Amino acid sequence: TMPIIYNFSAGPAVLPESVLRQAQSEMFDYNGTGFSVMTMSHRSDVFMSILYHAEQDLRQLMNIPNNYKVLFLQGGASAQFNMVVMNLANGFKRVDSVVTGNWSRIAHNQMGKLSDTKIHLAAHGGELYDYTDLPDPSTWDVSPDSAFVHYVINETVHGLQYRDVPKPFANQLPPMVCDMSSEILSRPINVADFGLIYAGAQKNIGPSGATIVIIREDLLDRCSDRIPDVWNYKSHVERQGMYNTPATYPIYISGLVFRWLQSQGGVASMQTINALKAKKLYEAIDGSGGFYTNKVAARARSQMNVVFHAPTPELDKLFAQESTTRGLRLLKGYKTMGGMRASIYNAMPLQGVEALIDFMGEFQKRYG
Ligand code: PMP
Repeated sequence: TMPIIYNFSAGPAVLPESVLRQAQSEMFDYNGTGFSVMTMSHRSDVFMSILYHAEQDLRQLMNIPNNYKVLFLQGGASAQFNMVVMNLANGFKRVDSVVTGNWSRIAHNQMGKLSDTKIHLAAHGGELYDYTDLPDPSTWDVSPDSAFVHYVINETVHGLQYRDVPKPFANQLPPMVCDMSSEILSRPINVADFGLIYAGAQKNIGPSGATIVIIREDLLDRCSDRIPDVWNYKSHVERQGMYNTPATYPIYISGLVFRWLQSQGGVASMQTINALKAKKLYEAIDGSGGFYTNKVAARARSQMNVVFHAPTPELDKLFAQESTTRGLRLLKGYKTMGGMRASIYNAMPLQGVEALIDFMGEFQKRYG
């Protein structure tokens, strides 16, 4: 018999089964319209309603204040590395950038392109800790005159997460610009602590193709008319997210995931279960007598992406192979990291984590 499949992919990642089943049942006929969401005009009343409700449900889930605009853009989180600079750094000499792992390092290197604004390195977790811990926000070298401070709250590759949300400059300049791709909706966050939040959908929300941007209204004044409209937050906001064709189907699926989250009790419930899943998995690693290892400082361990190694690269490889045949999928670590990475986003049930822990024990018995 086929084992139950648990998908530990870092993204595109697991989606709630009920969401996929609903999408399947509506594939050919959405809500009596006689056709698929995929084939509808983005300007049809039906799709406008899908977009409207997706936004309202996201606002409800994240408790987004009224002075924030919500956009569903394209281009992934990577496009935001540049959009935030193009739009928010006009007239500023400096952007402060915190490097804590793979994605903030890439962001740091990309942000300076096509821009005269200096991208100032405010902290470097690689130099300080070899990416096994996170620089305390009180040590970030940030100037009040900077356009904004950019950081990545959960580093998907290194398995690092600011468990205490950095917000040393709330209600003052410079605003915080945060990449929440791999943790958005996993726990309550105070949106008002941020100037701008962005996240690719394909980890904790839906399929790839939609990028969530939540931007404080007053920052739209910084968006110059010289920025091409397709890269301009203000032009997207002024056209209610319909400047050009949005990623209609990913937005529809994201909307279904928002409803699912509401049915589960929202982000507060997610936080409880996510904390439990992560605690169990880290306990299994730490309790293995050194067979499995994770070097990340306790305060910085990600509750979303759990990186671990077996004693040798050969055993890592074997672990990845054998776990696959047991229905535990996509555990192979990121190319530069080796080992394993278990991504345990909202849609990963506790049973999936328990199945992984059982397998880890068995594997250790066989090869330990
Ligand atoms: N930031 C983070 C934290 C990520 O995990 C990723 C994707 N793994 C990216 C940015 C890049 O996202 P995208 O592929 O949507 O451009």
